[in-house]
Amino acid sequence: MATVKDFKGDSSTWCPGCGDYSVMAALQKAAVNLGLEPHEIVTVTGIGCSSKISEYMRTYGFHTLHGRSLPVAQGAKMANPNLKVIAAGGDGDGYGIGLGHFNHAVRRNIDITYLVMDNQIYGLTKGQTSPRSNHGFVTKTTQKGNKEYPVDPLSTAISNGCTFVAQAFSGDVKGLTEIIEKALEHKGFSLVNIFSPCVTFNKINTYDFFREHLVKVDEPFHTREEAIQIIKQQQGLLTGILFVEEREDFQEQLGIDWNMLAVKEGSMDEGQLRSFET
Ligand code: SF4
Ligand code: MG
Repeated sequence: MATVKDFKGDSSTWCPGCGDYSVMAALQKAAVNLGLEPHEIVTVTGIGCSSKISEYMRTYGFHTLHGRSLPVAQGAKMANPNLKVIAAGGDGDGYGIGLGHFNHAVRRNIDITYLVMDNQIYGLTKGQTSPRSNHGFVTKTTQKGNKEYPVDPLSTAISNGCTFVAQAFSGDVKGLTEIIEKALEHKGFSLVNIFSPCVTFNKINTYDFFREHLVKVDEPFHTREEAIQIIKQQQGLLTGILFVEEREDFQEQLGIDWNMLAVKEGSMDEGQLRSFET
């Protein structure tokens, strides 16, 4: 059985203190807790500091184009439904250029987990305003303060039919690990938006800020309407599993025996099929 060490890559270029370290640690621990092996997982990412996680995790990995983690992740899941498919990246990648893909993956309810490391800034390109930066946020690109209001990924996902929506904080690795575990177990599209501070460029949304302002939700809200209402009331500063719905995923709805199809087409032989089934 795999241990956390089996999921660890060789090195990283993240800044000391970056929240993304805790996200990777939580993901590795969650995989171990669920009894997953490195070869059963593919980690697909876009572009940005956090998107480097596909290189630092010792699983199958695909570091794709900016904003394109979700199309590639969905393709991987369609090709091999036996894989545990994780898409990951930052708020700029996922809620900027990738926002169109996000909405369609959500409504498709394809069985993948999407981890967004939300630091409310573009870190890799040295600190510009992102789609998640607050109104009034000052950076080199918004010297008089950001005139736009941030994307709200939680209510966007919920209103588009997402069947698992959670938010977590990289300053609480235990809570984050538990949420990632539940997201990986969920059948259908699961979103975990993770406040993951950029210690180098974002001096507003810091660990201390989140420790002071986040409100924990102990159980999911009962309806989409209730969830959206409370998210708005609390200005999105919630942690926990916010909404869950059990519903057939995309591939179940298609009703295809993907394993037998793979055998028939020659991309998998009977032996490989049996190894997945045991
Ligand atoms: Fe993390 Fe920010 Fe450094 Fe990028 S620039 S590695 S997001 S702390
Ligand atoms: Mg970012």
